[in-house]
Amino acid sequence: MKLTNKDVLEYLKKAAELLNENREYLTELDSAIGDADHGINMDRGFQTVLKNLPTLEGKDIGAILKAVGMYLVSTVGGASGPLYGTAFIQAGTALAGKFEIDEQDILKAMQAALDGIIMRGKAERGDKTMIDTIAPAIESLKKSLSNGTDFVEALEEATRAAEEGMKSTIPMLAKKGRASYLGERSIGHQDPGATSSYLLIKLMLELIKEKQINN
Ligand code: ADP
Ligand code: MG
Repeated sequence: MKLTNKDVLEYLKKAAELLNENREYLTELDSAIGDADHGINMDRGFQTVLKNLPTLEGKDIGAILKAVGMYLVSTVGGASGPLYGTAFIQAGTALAGKFEIDEQDILKAMQAALDGIIMRGKAERGDKTMIDTIAPAIESLKKSLSNGTDFVEALEEATRAAEEGMKSTIPMLAKKGRASYLGERSIGHQDPGATSSYLLIKLMLELIKEKQINN
């Protein structure tokens, strides 16, 4: 399986569409345990990315992802802006100079993104954040790639792991970010950042799957 810089641009375009479609949903989730802006923040950030995609054509994947990270840092705002921004910048650093990537590269980039989020936000699994979606997806993919699971099956499993991770935030007590101000009242609500992460990961794994099946 190979992904090109063009595939990455295609992904970013679709991600902008998806976050735009989910703007109200993410904002609604954030109104329960935050300040009702997560959907607005993510949509603003990815619309900026979308607008600037033409300037990224022909660049290597690392440069594309780093530029995306910079756009997100400067436009998303809130807690999630610097976190998603760092994630994309770190993923870009992991893929510096590459015009084509394979499954191991993808895993490496996802791990770098997660490490960046943890370094920046100091949250752990179980704190009711985006980490609760991203970490299980990486873990699942890593396991599948090392034990030789069929690749399409591996992608589907990783999507399920991300979804379960997202849902696992519902009963959690928030320990980081605005939701943590609510204490016990944060229990019983799905975390908005865990949800936007799920949407982004699901879309990525779906596109890779399409690519794998059609090649
Ligand atoms: P804000 O909370 O500043 O309004 P957003 O609403 O855009 O920012 O994003 C909130 C999301 O950010 C949360 O749902 C959570 O997933 C994520 N988040 C907040 N703090 C952290 C952190 N320290 N580490 C990881 N993710 C975090
Ligand atoms: Mg918010």
